[in-house]
This record gives sequence, structure tokens and C-alpha cells, in this order.
Amino acid sequence: MESVLSINRISKQYGKIQAVKELSLEVTKGQIFGILGPNGSGKTTTLSIILDLIKDDGGDYQWFGEPPTKESRKRIGSVIESPNFFPYLNAEMNLQIVADIKDLGYEDIDRVLRLTGLEERKKSKFRTYSFGMKQRLAIASALLGNPEVLILDEPTNGLDPQGIAHIRNLILTVASNGTTIIMASHLLDEVQKICTHVAVLSKGKKLFDGKVSEVLSISDSFDFDSVEREELIRVIRTHPSFQSLDSSKETIQVYFNKEVNPGEINAFFFANGVTLTHLSERKRSLEQHFLELLQNNQ
Ligand code: ATP
Repeated sequence: MESVLSINRISKQYGKIQAVKELSLEVTKGQIFGILGPNGSGKTTTLSIILDLIKDDGGDYQWFGEPPTKESRKRIGSVIESPNFFPYLNAEMNLQIVADIKDLGYEDIDRVLRLTGLEERKKSKFRTYSFGMKQRLAIASALLGNPEVLILDEPTNGLDPQGIAHIRNLILTVASNGTTIIMASHLLDEVQKICTHVAVLSKGKKLFDGKVSEVLSISDSFDFDSVEREELIRVIRTHPSFQSLDSSKETIQVYFNKEVNPGEINAFFFANGVTLTHLSERKRSLEQHFLELLQNNQ
């Protein structure tokens, strides 16, 4: 897998506040990588360090397998702070100024306006834009020059549901064109819906990282039923990974202390003479996982 970003034990302290603590992360090409954590967990500080906007106190990071340089920085687009454009200039003119600053031609402007759905309003002054449109223009400006990586800090903050949907679709479209996305968010739902990978931060420390799909597939419990309920209960108690059960509901809910798969558990019942009339798995959501991790880290 082609490395895009490799962070090795970076730290940052502001006075007594440890904003980032020995944080390591690996992002590879094509990922939509979510940095998830509550307010103050160090997300913006981390993004600012890897964009060379602030200096870390220790550790290092590499872009595209090499120490960061001016050249590697040109391969990265970012939206870190709230959109800042000239209010009396239209979108197209604002993007021309950004293109000048980035030393790019104007030929990419129409593409990014189209991509962000702003083409029809490109002649409107920035000050007449809605908050959502301003946000999209900021992303358009970051996409000028077709960077290989797009970094976004809380991309849907303050947007209404329609604006949120717009940004989500935009991120997915950009990613489907092969751009690697790194985004900070405090919204679980957002990470679940958009990201392929996630790192959970709390108080500047990484608690967990992995594929979103793997985190989501952690099974918490199963519901079973059978016409021979008592026999079902007796048999399941003999399973090596059995932890506890609740028989007060319509079906029997069983907790295991290790991950078990439905096929294996069905075969176990069958081998012990119990025919199931019901088997379903309850998935533990990223939200539960996230909350548990934060609780254990208090
Ligand atoms: P939010 O979502 O609220 O922006 P965050 O996860 O991005 O939070 P950071 O902004 O990185 O977190 O802040 C991490 C910690 O560092 C916080 O306790 C914050 O108050 C502190 N901090 C950030 N920037 C500074 C600064 N310039 N001076 C002092 N403390 C700072």
C-alpha cells in the first residue's frame, strides 16, 4: 500500500496543556481517513502540524514516504480555518486569486466550480453566498491544481442537513476520483457515513485506529430462540465463550466474551441437538465503541 502520510510520535504542548501526545498514524493512498474526537482532543493541532502551520515539540512525519518539503506540500489541498475570501469579488475571481497565489493557471477553475456545484453561481459575489456555499468554495479552492490529498477540518460544522449532505457527497466524489482524504470530525455519524478508516483521539492521545468496517463488525451479542428454550439455555451455557444471558425478552439474548461467528454458533447448537428458530447478531456501533473508549480513558 502506497504511503501518503506517516506520523511518528508527534507531540505538542501549549503551556500546561498537552494538545497532542506521541501520536502515530498511517494513511495510505485512497483512504478516507477520519480523525475523530471530542472538542479539544487535538485534531486541529494535529492537522496544523502536518500542514507545517505550527511546529511540533517532538516526533516527525513524512508525506509520500519522505520528509516534508515545499514540493510535497503542493500535492496537498486543505481547508483548516473558516472560509476567507474577498467579499465583494465573485467566486470565479476569488479562485483566480487563489490560483495566482498557488502559481497555477486558470484552466482548473471551471472544473472545481462544477465539482462543488457552484458553476451557476460563479458570478455571484462571495458575500451573497450561503454558509454552505462558502464552505464549498473553500473546498473548491483547496481542490485547485487537483491535489493528491485533501485535508478538511470539521467540514460540515454549522451546516444544515442539506448542506451536510452536499459536502458528504462532494467528499465521496472527490475520493472516488482517487484523492486521499484526511478529515477531522467530532461527529461519529459523519465518520461512519463517509470514512473508510478512523483514528479516535482523546486528550491528544490516540485511543484506537482501524477500518471503520472492522470497528462496526465487532459483535456484542446474539439473539436466539428455539421451541426447546430450556434446552437452548442449558446448551449455550456450555459454550466456551459464553458470558451471560438474558431470557426475560421475546428471544434469548446471549453475550459472549470473545468474538463468535453465526455459522459456528449455529453448528454448535445443531451438534448439541438444538434446532434454532431464530438467530440474529447485534452489532456494536462505532458510537458505543467510541463512548466506551472515552469512558475508559477518563
Ligand atoms: P475542536 O474541535 O474544539 O477544535 P480539537 O480536537 O481540534 O478541538 P485542538 O484545537 O487541537 O483540539 O486543541 C487541543 C488542545 O490544545 C485544547 O485543549 C486547546 O485548548 C489547546 N490549544 C489549541 N491551540 C492552542 C493555542 N494556540 N494556545 C493554547 N492552547 C491551545
